[in-house]
Amino acid sequence: MPRLTDLSTIRALCQKHGFSLSKGLGQHFLVNPAVCPRLCEAAGLGPGSDVLEIGPGFGTLTQELAARARRVVALEVDSRLLPVLDETLADYTNVRVVQGDVMQTDLNALVAKMFGGPVTVCANLPYYITSPVVMKLLESRLPANNLTLMVQKEAAQRMAAAPGSRQAGAISYAVHYYAQPKLVFDVSAGSFTPPPKVKSAVIRLDIRKNPPLADEPEREARLFRLVRAAFGQRRKTLVNAASAGLGVPKAALAGAMDTLGLPPLARPEELTLEQFMALEGELAAGLF
Ligand code: SAM
Repeated sequence: MPRLTDLSTIRALCQKHGFSLSKGLGQHFLVNPAVCPRLCEAAGLGPGSDVLEIGPGFGTLTQELAARARRVVALEVDSRLLPVLDETLADYTNVRVVQGDVMQTDLNALVAKMFGGPVTVCANLPYYITSPVVMKLLESRLPANNLTLMVQKEAAQRMAAAPGSRQAGAISYAVHYYAQPKLVFDVSAGSFTPPPKVKSAVIRLDIRKNPPLADEPEREARLFRLVRAAFGQRRKTLVNAASAGLGVPKAALAGAMDTLGLPPLARPEELTLEQFMALEGELAAGLF
């Protein structure tokens, strides 16, 4: 099989299968041969690993995953890629391609059916749905040991930003609640065809076995409703944004902030994850 990181191979496959890249699906395929091995190293893959890949594209990363891991399941939304993947993955008996939209797929059921045990999630994610996919992967409580993902560099920095720091966004709180993030390496735009307009980076999220509210799913859901609402309106104070987003009286939020000794005009990114958890606990049940 010719190398998928050669542009001439990609062009030939496009021509043979009458395939044209879809910008709408975030199709930027890797052509830098150094990236996939580094991503696999970062994910800590070995011969016993089972891997769920999202968005195999032409199968460049999939081939590297298949060469290192025990089994790979690759979930691809674009049905036009299935015949291409049949060809590019023909030499690998340990890969199954599943057609489906990651946002519409029951990932727990897929993993249970295909592997029955823990997985590592690896992907060069389509950037247009990075946050929803990462949130889904985290919230669905997959039996995953780590998620090693290529994303837009800015998104990677946002995910890794410590809650309570200026760079933090709603996703930083979810990432730190469910996982321990580590920025692994940067990837230049020229590593893809076509090159995206932004820089990329690989981030590894080591999934926590026991997030703090794991045994209280209702409180956990409330915590993230609160976080999302607090970050829902840029440049507003936490009290104003959360009040508007949740339909909770400002006085209730202000009172809870006061009880916890938090500044009344605090912006959401000024609170640590622990402070957000305390605030959720302070707000009466049934308020939102
Ligand atoms: N893994 C390939 C590579 O690195 O060369 C392709 C990565 S490309 C950035 C993203 C891939 O995700 C494309 O193959 C695209 O069709 C697929 N994709 C886009 N939206 C998706 C979705 N909702 N569910 C599953 N796959 C999706």
